[in-house]
Amino acid sequence: MLTETNTAGLTIKNIPAFNDNYIWLIQGNDQRCALIDPGEAAPALAELQSQNLQLDTIIITHHHADHVGGVAELLRHYPKAKVIGPANDPVMMLTQSVQGGDCINVFGETFLVIDVPGHTNGHIAYVGDGKLFCGDVLFSAGCGRVFEGTYQQMYDSLQKLASLPQETEVYCAHEYTSSNLSFALAVEPENDLLHQYRDEVNRLRAQKKPTIPTTLRQEKWVNPFLRCQEPDVMKAVSERTNDLSALSVFCALRDWKNEF
Ligand code: ZN
Ligand code: FE
Repeated sequence: MLTETNTAGLTIKNIPAFNDNYIWLIQGNDQRCALIDPGEAAPALAELQSQNLQLDTIIITHHHADHVGGVAELLRHYPKAKVIGPANDPVMMLTQSVQGGDCINVFGETFLVIDVPGHTNGHIAYVGDGKLFCGDVLFSAGCGRVFEGTYQQMYDSLQKLASLPQETEVYCAHEYTSSNLSFALAVEPENDLLHQYRDEVNRLRAQKKPTIPTTLRQEKWVNPFLRCQEPDVMKAVSERTNDLSALSVFCALRDWKNEF
């Protein structure tokens, strides 16, 4: 049996969807591709057709409609496509259910599945080839809302992601960076790297360019939700909580962001 190798790594492209979603397209060294979180089919189909790509696999992080809404229509066009997604979230049409600790092979690269509950109960992330696909858990300069799980779960999920190698590229599912930075600057008005990053993000967005991927290294400098033990972040929430443990600071930040 031939073993598939891909020394060049995978090629990743973004397909904008809705207002601010990204569908990530993964291509190996042939015309097959995978799509991550296709919330709508039309922009994905247009990209596949224009590049003459064959949809091999759909990969899902969680059950929200802006991440799974395009699956049925894509399967009508590519009925043999595999659909890999979370075992513990209600996602229809999966051909393979996965959970933390499982591995999947994407065009010769192994991706580890990580359980990252909080935004939804069964939310999973995929990490491989130096890339992290994390849906709505970690955003650049922000994190997802806690809809189904507990703050503790969300905090733990973010910590798990933050413990991956620092150079890991972070492919989240939304272009929220600019508005997240407004909040991050309210938390840490004296963080010089935040100001630099805001300028860079403004430049990119003025040119309609994505700010994603980011890296974990960068997020540790700019993302308040990964900086719960920084003195300036603790100080910023000290009027909202007496308890300045990392978890309480995270909770105070998340509540503050919800009303920001
Ligand atoms: Zn979501
Ligand atoms: Fe979403």
